[in-house]
Amino acid sequence: MNDRWDIGGLSTQFFPETGRPTVFIYDGYEGGVGYSEVGFNRLGEMIKSAYKTVSRCRCVSGCPSCIYSPKCGNSNDYLDKTATVLLSHRMLKELSR
Ligand SMILES: [Zn+2]
Repeated sequence: MNDRWDIGGLSTQFFPETGRPTVFIYDGYEGGVGYSEVGFNRLGEMIKSAYKTVSRCRCVSGCPSCIYSPKCGNSNDYLDKTATVLLSHRMLKELSR
């Protein structure tokens, strides 16, 4: 019993408090149900799953099955399938060190 509205995300090219590109993932409901905490503790699995989903999708430049979201505050304008595959692959390599 869950849906995409249970969790949210926000990304920015630069966040002053971290001094680098930053992605926030949060529970979508006040008080949360714990999804973001589980995701934090299982980050490698989550990135691997995203990598597989996007890299195996048959679309050319992104679609609702891989990178597009109806919740995107920027109308999916800045999403890039190739960059998603490269970045998630790099993140998996870094996490395996
Ligand atoms: Zn796709």
